[in-house]
Amino acid sequence: EMSILQPPPAKYGGRHTVTLIPGDGIGPELLNHVREVFRFSCVPVDFEVVHVNSAVETEDDISNAITAIRRNGVALKGNIETKHTMPPSVKSRNSVLRTSLDLYANVMHCQSLPGVQTRHKNIDIMIIRENTEGEYSSLEHESVSGVVESLKIITRNNSLRIADYAFRLAREKGRRRVTAVHKANIMKLADGLFLQCCREVASGYPDITFDSMIVDNTTMQLVSKPQQFDVMVMPNLYGNVVSNVCAGLVGGPGLVPGANYGRDYAVFETATRNTGKSIANKNIANPTAVLLASSRSPTFFFFLSFSQLHTADIGGQGTTSEVVQSVMRIIQSKGQLTSEL
Ligand code: ADP
Ligand code: MG
Repeated sequence: EMSILQPPPAKYGGRHTVTLIPGDGIGPELLNHVREVFRFSCVPVDFEVVHVNSAVETEDDISNAITAIRRNGVALKGNIETKHTMPPSVKSRNSVLRTSLDLYANVMHCQSLPGVQTRHKNIDIMIIRENTEGEYSSLEHESVSGVVESLKIITRNNSLRIADYAFRLAREKGRRRVTAVHKANIMKLADGLFLQCCREVASGYPDITFDSMIVDNTTMQLVSKPQQFDVMVMPNLYGNVVSNVCAGLVGGPGLVPGANYGRDYAVFETATRNTGKSIANKNIANPTAVLLASSRSPTFFFFLSFSQLHTADIGGQGTTSEVVQSVMRIIQSKGQLTSEL
C-alpha cells in the first residue's frame, strides 16, 4: 500500500527498519507490547529504539530522533511529556518533531469498535488536521507587562496543501463528503483564508460534496448526531479539540490510532497523544490505540475487535497484558498477519 498516504519505509533484505520512540508515561510499556505482537506474528520489522528524555532542556535527543526518522522514513512513537514548568523557550518535543519533518497532515480515523459500549453507534469519521501551523506556531510574547500575544499563523500554501490532502484521501477511500471546520465569523482573515483555500481545492473534486461548519456548532453536532460526518478538515487547534471529542465518542483515548504524514515521512502514534502518566506501569492502559497505530491493516482492526477481553477504561476487567495475550490468540487462530501488516 505505497501511496501518497504512506511513504515507502527503508527496506533492507526484505526487512523494514522503523524508528521507535517509547516516550513517557504509558508509551514504553505499550510499545513493548507492539514489539511482542510483531515478534509473535513474525512481522519483518526491526525497530531502532531512540529514547527522548523530556527532563533535560537540550534538544540533542529530539534531533537524534529526527535524524533516525529521516533515515528510516517511518516511526512509531509514544507521547513525550511537555512540562508546563519549563521556560517558554522549551518547546514541545512532539511538536518540534512534527514541524522538523514537515508532517503536515494529521489523520485520525474514528470508527465505532464492535463490542465497545458507547452512546452513539456506527461512527466512521476521518479527521484531517493541519499539523504544522495555526495556534501551534510557538510564537508568543509579552508585548507589555500583563499583555501576551500568541500568534496563530494560517498560510495559503499550507491550507491548500491540507485541503488537497483531505480531498485526495476522501477520493482514495471512496468518501462522499468533506466538511471544513472553522471560526471564520470571528477570525475573518485567518480562518477566512483557510476556508477559501478549502473551497478552491473543492472545486477540483466535483465528485465529492464540500461543506463547512463553525467549530462550536461542530462539537455540538458531534455529541448529538456524529453519524452525519464523513471526512473533516481543519486547522491545528480545532483538530486537537475535535479529535478528542471524537475519540471520546467511540470509547476514549485508548482506542483510536493517529498518523502524521508529510511528503517524505510518516509517524504513527495514538490519535489523542496522551502521556497517561497516572496510569503508567500499572498494566491497566488500553493497548488498542497503539496496536492499531502500528498497523492500519483492516484485518488487524477486525482481529482486535474480536477480543472479548477489555481493559477498565472501556468497562472491562482485563489487564493490558491479558488483552495483548488475547489479541495474539486471535491472530494465531485466524492465521498469520505478516502479509497484512
Ligand atoms: P495528557 O497527559 O496528554 O494531558 P493524559 O495522559 O492525562 O493526557 O490522558 C488523559 C486521560 O486519558 C487520562 O485519564 C488517562 O488515564 C486516559 N488515557 C490515556 N491513554 C489511555 C489508555 N491507553 N488507556 C486508558 N486510559 C488512557
Ligand atoms: Mg495529563
